[in-house]
Amino acid sequence: MSLPPLREVIARHGLSATRALGQNFLLDEQLLDRIAAVPGDLRDKPVLEVGPGPGGLTRALLRAGARVTAIEMDRRCLPALAELEAAFPGQLRVIEGDALKIDPATLFAEPYAILANLPYNVGTALFTGWLSGESWPPQWTSLTLMFQQEVAQRITAQPDTSAYGRLAVLAQWRSTAKLAMKVHRSAFTPPPKVMSAIVHVTPSAMPEGVSARVLERVTEAAFGQRRKMLRQSLKGLPGALEVLERLGIDPQRRAETLSVAEFVSVARELTR
Ligand code: SAM
Repeated sequence: MSLPPLREVIARHGLSATRALGQNFLLDEQLLDRIAAVPGDLRDKPVLEVGPGPGGLTRALLRAGARVTAIEMDRRCLPALAELEAAFPGQLRVIEGDALKIDPATLFAEPYAILANLPYNVGTALFTGWLSGESWPPQWTSLTLMFQQEVAQRITAQPDTSAYGRLAVLAQWRSTAKLAMKVHRSAFTPPPKVMSAIVHVTPSAMPEGVSARVLERVTEAAFGQRRKMLRQSLKGLPGALEVLERLGIDPQRRAETLSVAEFVSVARELTR
């Protein structure tokens, strides 16, 4: 299937990137094919793409054989996406709206992969939403998301590093989070100020007897005062200091020295 170059589509539809919508477009089709390959074989698989813009990643997903549902809030992009709908009949469904206000569960009857290249604030809000909640496994089979490199490092960080914090624990306690690919700022039009990276997350088994909300409260308190010893930072959490003692965790340690498994153990004791 030969499609017009993305640059031509953007020019023809007057899709100048809007800063307010966090628009930095990817136009390199080889790079887009590599991103679409990160979740594995997508042939005939349902995919949710958030923020397709002029449709660069959408094309790559369609070429990979995916059945794509795309949510885009910039109306200017809809005619360009309608051309893709026509070029790949029955493979693309475009929904106009704000992804922060749409529950994907209402769009899919079966598990689906999520891919997105989104502005930082929207991407982080959706990401934490997709990883929160008591019910697990989630309806999505994987998340393949572009973040600024610094956020990607926080998501995949290991203990004893400055990047390790709430986001790492959230992304790793019942999922596997990997930095799949670094993307140079020059790959975007217009180029953002910072480097980016693709993060790939797949759900794993949820540890038994742990409430997601309780774990969230523990990491919030612990990393809220990350320079302080746990003795101090967890003082306001009823029962937490007794739990540390019961588990043999030295209260003089600081939050960033605790492994994800140790946070899970603390939360399990507090969930009881
Ligand atoms: N995916 C395209 C690409 O890689 O070239 C566009 C990426 S651009 C960084 C982000 C896109 O997300 C824009 O098209 C923007 O209009 C859209 N967007 C921003 N916030 C959104 C939201 N809350 N819901 C849906 N789309 C959103």
